[in-house]
Amino acid sequence: MSDIDNIFDRAASGKSLVKKRETLTIDYVPEKLPFRDQEAAALAQTLSTVFKGARPSNLLLFGKPGTGKTAVVKTVVDRLVKKSGALGITVDVPIINAKLANSAYKMLFEIAEHLGLNKEEKKVVHFTGLSMGEATDRILQFIQNKKMRVILVIDEIDSLVDRNGDDVLYSFTRANERMGKGGFVSLIGISNSLTFKDKLDPRVRSSLSEEETVFNPYTVEQLRQILSERAKLAFSEGAITDAAINLCAAMAGREHGDARKAIDLLRVAAELAEREHALRVEEKHVRAAQEKIEKDTNLEVIKNATTHTKFVMLAITKSKNGNTGEVYEVYSSLCRQAEQEPLTQRRVTQIISELDQLGLVSTDIVSQGRYGRSQKIKVAVPLATVKDALKDDPTFSDLMSSSD
Ligand code: ADP
Ligand code: MG
Repeated sequence: MSDIDNIFDRAASGKSLVKKRETLTIDYVPEKLPFRDQEAAALAQTLSTVFKGARPSNLLLFGKPGTGKTAVVKTVVDRLVKKSGALGITVDVPIINAKLANSAYKMLFEIAEHLGLNKEEKKVVHFTGLSMGEATDRILQFIQNKKMRVILVIDEIDSLVDRNGDDVLYSFTRANERMGKGGFVSLIGISNSLTFKDKLDPRVRSSLSEEETVFNPYTVEQLRQILSERAKLAFSEGAITDAAINLCAAMAGREHGDARKAIDLLRVAAELAEREHALRVEEKHVRAAQEKIEKDTNLEVIKNATTHTKFVMLAITKSKNGNTGEVYEVYSSLCRQAEQEPLTQRRVTQIISELDQLGLVSTDIVSQGRYGRSQKIKVAVPLATVKDALKDDPTFSDLMSSSD
């Protein structure tokens, strides 16, 4: 019955459902990280070498998204920096997100910023005009001259390698050979992709993974406990039901135990409940949140697709019987209307199978009686989502208004 009192009290005091909104953002790192004690201890153990005056081993952390890698590293690094301050030992620990930095060049710039290269040289280092190798060299030279102890954390390191290859990593892993006494660079790489290592040159691979830690997905029960803790921080008393929390955990645990997805659900469910002035967050808000997140994700994927992928998507929505040949005809005619050269049918078939893998289209095999069987291609997201995604692209606004 205290729930009812809470509802009345909240309404009377005009309090909102969410009392500490920042705890629902993805960057928020809570004080405690249950179920990650071992991983955190292993990382601390590796890094503790720095307090013995030696170089910690390079380390690779792997795990699917939302398994707590970034949160664990931030927590351990935070403690390490505090401890080194207390002990009077200077350690520099730049944490760079390779995906956000968006290019190897930008990443090097951020490292230089963090290490104070720019201040030191009394001007912002204009890497512009330097090759990647020269820019890396400047950073390493600086570390060597100053005998700095650097633990370089590269989060989402897989996206760096996908985009720029592993040259930069090669230079960093080789750096210690020339450092001499005093300075060093240790590399902590964090990867969402489990097959990331396969993409590395064998020399970089063996050097980077002197040690490895794998983060396993959370179980639904673990997600439930993580969410309950988070909900206590985030929500006013009684502003969310246990059933809603359980549903977030169950939904996030369905594919793999992804705490990020679970917290996203919690946040969006809260926003939807607030928007309708609900008295508390319930299961229906979680279900609506799931739909919204899915829709937003699909929307982004289509928006950011290549022009020809968009043509293919639109062609599928306009095709009558959805067989490959007809989709290709519609696609070609859309291209011609937009005065663009169509791709080959083979390439379009490839695009269709990519879209299939992303869950944006579905292909069914249908029986044609004595004519055998054929493929029927359909768009797997609401038509409105496709239109929404294409409406701001000038190539498509005309095409869409012209017909329907
Ligand atoms: P990853 O880097 O593996 O993709 P994150 O560390 O970003 O995952 O975690 C995703 C979200 O889940 C973050 O908001 C983080 O605070 C939270 N989280 C992950 N693991 C835990 C845990 N064990 N306890 C509490 N919160 C967690
Ligand atoms: Mg992460």
